[in-house]
Amino acid sequence: MRDRFGRKIDYMRISITDRCNLRCRYCMPEGIEQAPMKELLTYEEIVRVCRGAVRAGICKLKITGGEPLVRPGCPQLVKELKSITGIKQVTMTTNGILLKKFLPELLKNGLDAVNISLDTMDRDTYRQITGKDGLLQAADGIREAIESGIRVKVNVVLQKGINEAEWKGLAELTRRNPLDVRFIEMMPIGDGKGYETIYNEDVFAKLKALEPGLCEDISKHGNGPSVYYRIPGAKGSIGFISAMHGKFCGNCNRIRLTSTGRLKPCLCFGDSLDVRKVLRGTEQENVDELLYQAVREAISMKPAHHKFEVSGDITECKKMVQIGG
Ligand code: SAM
Ligand code: SF4
Repeated sequence: MRDRFGRKIDYMRISITDRCNLRCRYCMPEGIEQAPMKELLTYEEIVRVCRGAVRAGICKLKITGGEPLVRPGCPQLVKELKSITGIKQVTMTTNGILLKKFLPELLKNGLDAVNISLDTMDRDTYRQITGKDGLLQAADGIREAIESGIRVKVNVVLQKGINEAEWKGLAELTRRNPLDVRFIEMMPIGDGKGYETIYNEDVFAKLKALEPGLCEDISKHGNGPSVYYRIPGAKGSIGFISAMHGKFCGNCNRIRLTSTGRLKPCLCFGDSLDVRKVLRGTEQENVDELLYQAVREAISMKPAHHKFEVSGDITECKKMVQIGG
């Protein structure tokens, strides 16, 4: 379905949990409140919402969180989502810690691609950012994923004074590995508000100075707003998701479903629709029709663009881990 601005909305990001086995400082600070388990949508409920979403034109799904792989049964959900007629693609975003363990089942169940978050290749910095000595596990996850042949993207958020110098080493990964490394600008959501955004424009300028042969890679890499480049001869590409500087909203193709059953038209604003209420309400007869209508409404509520650059206009108060990144 097209929204009010003519954009084709065919992609939904589904957060299946607000729990995580890491504590990335900008995403899930210590002491954050978690929703009681009974408030999270069950897998059956998620599948039901997705069926309504398919009727409204959604054909690509991304499973995210929190950390999706900490929720028991996540690989089975992949299978169920893939079996919905009209769903063309199911992908996942994970921190990679549990990926090695679950990858065989995820692949068997039809996962199409995986994004793995990795802000640093230094063990101490990893611990500093995530609160856990997990670099080796995450790296194992990435390695296994590459070896399996599934499409792999590594997501990096650069943070001033913490990992900002690592752009180079992380970009270098694309030289010998068939993966994309994407730099995501820190957005002023949750504790991301306390960070000074490192602009992708600056990272790109440094990369270009180092690699003058860098050329734009116009092949299709996925569903997102990333712009890709390739070092000559490299096996993978380097992507830039410039939420702040690049205002890519004109090409926005997505809505979000939070783990507690809120349909969100845009990350920047607090507006959402409560589909849990629809699912668990007493009027059971036309639930599927109401879910379909809710997805249509969420799409039609999409604003023309975010307003991350005006702090007073950001009405989303939740942390990223509660929304689903
Ligand atoms: N746990 C999974 C992971 O880490 O990939 C999935 C959820 S996580 C919220 C998804 C992505 O959101 C991660 O790549 C994380 O770095 C990113 N993220 C979290 N807060 C952010 C912020 N304020 N600005 C930009 N990216 C953010
Ligand atoms: Fe967990 Fe992902 Fe947030 Fe890190 S970015 S705390 S891994 S949900």
